Amino acid sequence: MILLTGGAGYIGLHTAAVLIEAGQQVVLFDNFSNSKPLAVKRLEAIVGRAVPCVEGDVRSRADMDGLFDQHPVNAVIHFAGLKAVGESANQPLRYYDNNVAGTLVLLAAMQRAEVRRFVFSSSACVYGEPDVSPIPESAALRPANTYGRTKLMVEEILRDLHVAAPGWSIALLRYFNPVGAHPGGQIGEDPNGIPNNLMPFVTQVAVGRLPELQVFGGDYPTPDGSGVRDYIHVMDLAEGHRAALDWALRDPQEVLTANLGTGRGYSVLELVRAFEKASGKPIPHRIVARRAGDVPAYWGDPSLARQRLGWTARRTLDDICRDAWNWQRRNPQGFA
Ligand code: NAD
Ligand code: UDP
Repeated sequence: MILLTGGAGYIGLHTAAVLIEAGQQVVLFDNFSNSKPLAVKRLEAIVGRAVPCVEGDVRSRADMDGLFDQHPVNAVIHFAGLKAVGESANQPLRYYDNNVAGTLVLLAAMQRAEVRRFVFSSSACVYGEPDVSPIPESAALRPANTYGRTKLMVEEILRDLHVAAPGWSIALLRYFNPVGAHPGGQIGEDPNGIPNNLMPFVTQVAVGRLPELQVFGGDYPTPDGSGVRDYIHVMDLAEGHRAALDWALRDPQEVLTANLGTGRGYSVLELVRAFEKASGKPIPHRIVARRAGDVPAYWGDPSLARQRLGWTARRTLDDICRDAWNWQRRNPQGFA
């Protein structure tokens, strides 16, 4: 059985759907700080069966020990964490507590339960402003914000753990920009409050929840002046977790660090145009000042994941926009 911490969240739900369809038994574990129990019901509707979900906190040793005592877990995918870059600057202690201290509690409970296969949600944030794109895993690691530092610290903790306990198999997955939704439209991204990220902002403009998109920066050294990112369909990302899990279940007893991206970048304005085409909805937008802390352009080199995990992102920007729109138009208020 596979434990998905943070399994009721955006990426966890999509990964659970892919793993269950592939015949895995999963148990979700979540404190619902950034997700809703209804989302798990939607997952159950997709896969056509009950999905066990335990409410608890990764920072609680009692919750974690109880989970491992009650479920025959043989691998963990650790999604649970806080992810808002801006908030991480204002609430550093909360971010280090959730993301770093929470992971330490989980790892100690895994050691007690003798579970040594671990897949970790890291982030392209660990690179900060890169010297080149596509970014290889060997690039310098200099995260530019607190959130990115929490991810890099956990990566380093896991590398140290592996030196001391070489029996562990650990995949560190550095995600680029996850977007889109399950093609059925029952699950998708449902941020609390006004979205910080581009795609949920665009979809909420399309359903009329927000009046217009602000494009942060029109004078970057990019082809159209707007920022460029590597947008990866969340179903591709979910399949990347399936590949990483299969790798860990083969007990390679090493630490594998892999980018999960598409290998190409799109600008904000390209994404807006693709979304308008997919949805048939105009997206009113206005170019405003750059957002503090934003890097002009970056995208990932996914060749290592292809070689080591046999995984490649297959879905296009048009697929991403179609599925993001399908989710938002069927659920204008998200899971509410
Ligand atoms: P999400 O917020 O939708 O999911 C995270 C889940 O973890 C939520 O359901 C939340 O309730 C739960 N959680 C948070 N703290 C917890 C705790 N202490 N105990 C138990 N549950 C807890 O976010 P997501 O987009 O699905 O991201 C999943 C992981 O991937 C996170 O670790 C995030 O940092 C990482 N990541 C996300 C992105 C992105 O853009 N979405 C990019 C790179 C990395
Ligand atoms: N962006 C934007 N308007 C928004 C949100 C984001 O123009 O309302 C831009 C942002 O400047 C960046 C890209 O969209 O160039 C992706 O930003 P997002 O916050 O989604 O992800 P990030 O790459 O910052 O993790």
